Amino acid sequence: MEKPLNSNNPPLSGSLWLKVLNFVKDRMDHSNYNLWMEPLKPSALQDDVLVVEAPDSFSANWVQNHYGAEITAALQSLGSAVSRVVFVAKDASAGTLTKEGAGDKARDKTTEQDEHKKSVAAPPAPPRKPRSGNSLNPLYSFDNFIIGENNRLAHAAALSVSQSPGTAYNPLFIYGQVGVGKTHLMQAVGNFAKTRDDFRVVYLSSEQFLNEFIDSLLSKNTSTFRNRFRDLDLLLIDDIQFIGGKEETQREFFHTFNTLHDYHKQVVLSSDRPPKELKNLERRLVSRFEWGLVVDIQPPDLETRMAIIENKARMKNFSLPKEVAFCLAEKIEGNVRSLEGALTKLIACAGLYNKNEVDVAFTENILKDLLQTENNKPKIDIASVQEWVGRYYNIKISELKGDRRQQSLVLPRQIAIYLSRKLTGTSLPQIGEAFGGKNHTTILYTCRKVEDKMKNDVNFKEEVERVLLRFKNDLNNN
Ligand code: ADP
Ligand code: MG
Repeated sequence: MEKPLNSNNPPLSGSLWLKVLNFVKDRMDHSNYNLWMEPLKPSALQDDVLVVEAPDSFSANWVQNHYGAEITAALQSLGSAVSRVVFVAKDASAGTLTKEGAGDKARDKTTEQDEHKKSVAAPPAPPRKPRSGNSLNPLYSFDNFIIGENNRLAHAAALSVSQSPGTAYNPLFIYGQVGVGKTHLMQAVGNFAKTRDDFRVVYLSSEQFLNEFIDSLLSKNTSTFRNRFRDLDLLLIDDIQFIGGKEETQREFFHTFNTLHDYHKQVVLSSDRPPKELKNLERRLVSRFEWGLVVDIQPPDLETRMAIIENKARMKNFSLPKEVAFCLAEKIEGNVRSLEGALTKLIACAGLYNKNEVDVAFTENILKDLLQTENNKPKIDIASVQEWVGRYYNIKISELKGDRRQQSLVLPRQIAIYLSRKLTGTSLPQIGEAFGGKNHTTILYTCRKVEDKMKNDVNFKEEVERVLLRFKNDLNNN
């Protein structure tokens, strides 16, 4: 049942939203929580899409990118049927949204080429005006980006694309795990490029692209949508992995991509994995993503982490002694976002305790729950394995638990069962229970099957190891 935006009836019960906020609160530092989460307001529920209002588009974008998946997972684990949460700026929420697949299903069966021509033949574009993604953050610049061995190539490619858009590498595809600086680098490209006269830049996440596309279908305004994205000099789409499984959006993006590419306009994409590993993505898109340059960003090493944290402290005018920077960089590995969260907490506490200069003892004390000691490593349970595998393969937890034999569900389900057995130390019947009431012999059989397959199929073995590695990274970074 559809509820209008801005209706007086809250789309969720207040207590459910509070529980969701508490779930997120445990996963982020307090100042970030107060800044980003407290102002959020659920404003509408349409089918299984929850619309949440943020004070402005930058906040909406930030929360979508950083906590969208967690908030959806929290709702689902609390029993809600919400399949997707969409964050919109307060004054932008006058439209309507619905889930992927809305719109004209009865498309002509045309060839790829015909389809492309058909969709390009949209009404004439409105007068050219400079455009820049409204969520470009000026602090994400090349000047503030620390170059290390982990990101040297990605940085060089991004700089080169900013200097010669549309000619250097097109598209530029940057991938790497969460918190390694992909968004920062993409925004640096956007900020650099938009200083040119009459140069039109749009930066957005693939989820926002999807939402705007759906919106345009509903308001029968696809030509405006097309013009917005095809009359550009630079299109930056962050976290492209989220269009996996969204067929209509992929088709639309395919045409947008072709149009821009044909006119030598620059496209930059980021993802948490290389093009070939993107799930439920059309082959023709995967192949286009590989046309230009595909570069990865690895987690930064100790020296780079130190340089990053020192730079962040300088930007916040906070005096950070070398040994404290070392203490933070040494103890918080991998995800720079967590490192930054630790610094924010340290700065807040230094202010609270009137400390002009922080030392290692003070830092360790303040950050003890964040620092990685053996005692505070998070406990792995079946729900978190399910949540994580579901997110990795872009499928719902209910599908992971269910019995549908579709190949795209069977493999993730088998891997989730195998990892639950391997990582959580729970019994076969408990795992069976958590996977929709399966018999313990089914669980045992599945685990053996996965082990055999890993022995005989090196690609499969690597896939399982990749899932495991990302899961561990995620755990260490939370
Ligand atoms: P991702 O998009 O890969 O998840 P982000 O770009 O959001 O990661 O980076 C997370 C935080 O870490 C941002 O505040 C970003 O400025 C910072 N960061 C990551 N790498 C670097 C770097 N090399 N130099 C400076 N800041 C960095
Ligand atoms: Mg990002």
